[in-house]
Amino acid sequence: MPSVSIERIERDITAISRFGFNEADGGVYRQGFSPEDMAVREWLRARFAELGMSHRMDGAGNVIGRFDPAGRGEDVPAVIIASHTDSVPASGMFDGVLGVVAGLEVVRTMKANGIEPLYPVEVIATAEEEGRFGGMLGAQAMTGHLTREWLDAAADERGVKLVDAMREAGLDPSRAMHAYRPPETIRAYLELHVEQGPVLDTEKTTIGIVEGISGVFKWMVRLIGKADHAGTAPMNMRADALMGMADFAHEIPRIIEEEGTGKSRITIGHVNCKPGFPHTVPGEVDFTIVGRDLDHEKMKALASACERVLAAIARRNKLHFEYEQMSWLAPAYCDTGLISLIEGKTKELGYSYKIMPSGAGHDVQFFCEHSRAGLFFVPSVKGVSHAPDEWTHWVDCERGTRLLYECVCELACNEGALEEAGQAERV
Ligand SMILES: [Zn+2]
Repeated sequence: MPSVSIERIERDITAISRFGFNEADGGVYRQGFSPEDMAVREWLRARFAELGMSHRMDGAGNVIGRFDPAGRGEDVPAVIIASHTDSVPASGMFDGVLGVVAGLEVVRTMKANGIEPLYPVEVIATAEEEGRFGGMLGAQAMTGHLTREWLDAAADERGVKLVDAMREAGLDPSRAMHAYRPPETIRAYLELHVEQGPVLDTEKTTIGIVEGISGVFKWMVRLIGKADHAGTAPMNMRADALMGMADFAHEIPRIIEEEGTGKSRITIGHVNCKPGFPHTVPGEVDFTIVGRDLDHEKMKALASACERVLAAIARRNKLHFEYEQMSWLAPAYCDTGLISLIEGKTKELGYSYKIMPSGAGHDVQFFCEHSRAGLFFVPSVKGVSHAPDEWTHWVDCERGTRLLYECVCELACNEGALEEAGQAERV
């Protein structure tokens, strides 16, 4: 029986990487709704056509190819394989692209094996996943997480409005809401992605089966002390805002130890020290706190511990403190039946694996509450991602695609696939 082909996977990923490739830094520039992004969508539609799939671009710009060789019809729910082909600036060639190319290869292999699935298989390249406009437009639109207000207000960092970018790309923004997919049209949603972190590569593990996407909160914190002359103000008479922040930074491991889990993350990623002059004691420090955990209660506990610790530090250092919560995104959990199915197929193929959270956001998170949704990773060399030297070994791309093929065949051809997986889980 023909299986997935490492040569074809390499060929397709390389072909897509040429769209928006920059010789100077070796990075891929294919931001959502750019001409390069739209060109890949056309390229993909041509591949769908070659495979005899029906294909369309929905109102949000998602490109959807449907493989239904037995002509089971539009009313039959589909097994969806999705990921994205847009990129951040100066990106690598695997992020998102692997999942879409793997989808093509799965359909190609099913066709080569003469498989006529009971449930049509759809391959979707979602629109604007990387958040040029601050969201994940395509996945949000398909799952009902899009509002007209957000759509009209969204703009990128240079001030380009989303609706203008869509019009420029030949889309009618008013049709974005029509991209909604009722849950009953989806049998299951599966995504294969590169890990974008170092865990699998470091632990020499082939597959990371994702149990859920960590929730994330973002705070803007302000510590206010007193700006003073750095020479005349004695050390014990200062209200140094930066010292307060440093104290907090040192408390982070303890906060996680006491309130968090091995999956907790707290990061101070941006600091603005005022007045920012070498000979002046910092009178004010503005900084961000981004916290993550897969458990919503733990996430809440981490947030309240941050607040408690900041208050104590402010008191001790004669500072005032205030903060604003910029966002709070609850964790999203993958379907346990799909996790069992993926785990079972991974074992059958003899691949090493681990069950893990995803610290990064993915299209799948919008599908978690919407339909049955699953995600798995293959290793990123040294964990590098969103950078030109992002790399995943071809053999790992092949293994991930092989696993995807097995899972999709099971879901699309076996009526009871999910029940069987569920039972295996309960045993
Ligand atoms: Zn991605």
